[in-house]
Amino acid sequence: MIKELKNFEAWFITGSQHLYGEETLKQVDRDSAEIAASLNKSPHIPVKIVFKPVLTTPEAILQICLEANNTEGCIGLITWMHTFSPAKMWIAGLKALRKPFVHLHTQFNRDIPWSSIDMDFMNLNQSAHGGREFGFIGSRMRIERKVIVGHWANPEIQKKLDVWLRAASAWHEWQGAKVARFGDNMREVAVTEGNKVSAQIQLGYAVYGYGIGDLVDRVNSVSDSEAEQLVQIYESEYIVPGDARKGGSLRMSMREAARIEAGMRQFLEEGGFSAFTTTFEDLHGLVQLPGLAVQRLMADGYGFGAEGDWKTAALVRAMKVMSLGMKGGTSFMEDYTYHLNSTGMKVLGAHMLEVCPSISSGKSSLEVHPLGIGGKSDPARLVFDVAQGKGVNAALMDMGNRYRLLVNPCDVVPADEPLPNLPVARVVWEPYPNLEVAAGAWILSGGAHHTGFSMAVTAGHLEDFAEIAGIEYLLIDKNTTISSIKKELRWNDLYYHLAKGI
Ligand code: MN
Repeated sequence: MIKELKNFEAWFITGSQHLYGEETLKQVDRDSAEIAASLNKSPHIPVKIVFKPVLTTPEAILQICLEANNTEGCIGLITWMHTFSPAKMWIAGLKALRKPFVHLHTQFNRDIPWSSIDMDFMNLNQSAHGGREFGFIGSRMRIERKVIVGHWANPEIQKKLDVWLRAASAWHEWQGAKVARFGDNMREVAVTEGNKVSAQIQLGYAVYGYGIGDLVDRVNSVSDSEAEQLVQIYESEYIVPGDARKGGSLRMSMREAARIEAGMRQFLEEGGFSAFTTTFEDLHGLVQLPGLAVQRLMADGYGFGAEGDWKTAALVRAMKVMSLGMKGGTSFMEDYTYHLNSTGMKVLGAHMLEVCPSISSGKSSLEVHPLGIGGKSDPARLVFDVAQGKGVNAALMDMGNRYRLLVNPCDVVPADEPLPNLPVARVVWEPYPNLEVAAGAWILSGGAHHTGFSMAVTAGHLEDFAEIAGIEYLLIDKNTTISSIKKELRWNDLYYHLAKGI
């Protein structure tokens, strides 16, 4: 499970042709190497940038695409046309390429040297039309890709590249990823279901189902002293009440929670899983609903979905990969309850227990309380609030003939008053454009009640991600109206019906 995006690499690929002579090609090579080196050093670029020598023949282009396919750490290509590169040369390579690419439509020189420009300069700096020829073949071959236009040294352009590289990293990590599913789906819930074979074919990750007994075995093999050591770590990281301290009445509950965490962690590590699900309808043999364990595993980077929700588990993991090294956390989330006062309508997001402390505004409080669902002993959980800022909710649904990624940015706001009687982590937000339109549009779009919530990832990351994945992307934002989303939904239905043939 990757924890550092610098372990991934993107290849910087420059297209040209032999027409210009050796001197020009050497210059193209030097310029490309300089851009690649500069991007590599940029604080805005999250992955390693690997320079590749300039490409001038169809054979070399095919070769580099095949090498990219077979290089494990290569998340994709950054393509640039310094000069003109006749695009028939790209057909074989792009047909074979199985990694995403971004088209950086830039030019080595930022400025036109007005007083000294001559034909040599013009011939060397032909991105303006070279990039169009390359663009044509991408469109002609119906390849989804991002196009970034601007000078490569501009931090704003590098930030756009950063967004795409993060989306490509998350996609890369999904390929061959494993989701562990403890128990099945919450019996009659619809949106958490889906076709796992379709998901594996299209999205690249596999879902592995386990009877809860496999996990219980592992949990029961955790010794008392191992569990006690973990409880001591809890005491150092969280605010722990007196009755949970040594000798207190809740110490045993704390130790059981620790045993579940240690058992789950071992299970996930040994199986090479990067995301998992649980369901409170299938906990036979577990003393408590896994709350604290899920929260701490999410904080360490695992994706999670409750009630057997493997799509959200994988999505949360992808959003965690996208935001590695960024400020702001990412969590599994559920639109729980509303404040419908017309002076300030908002959503209170939470779950029974499983909210990731990476979004916490301060030190979490570790508490044990009864849970009116699941029929188990009182579970331990971290309780915290979330600080103000920008957030986003995203949900992935199986619409039968395609996956839909639905995205809605929001402002995280303070609760109107303290919540002394609510013993779960929670976050309050105002969705864009407002709750009335956002919730209406979300429901018309078939949006799930479970989401990946992030204060690091933006709609831009998710749009790039959906494009790379080849899935439907729907955004509810400041410009959305109910009428506009209805039209987009109808058009998309038609598009995805017809797109099979184009
Ligand atoms: Mn739920």
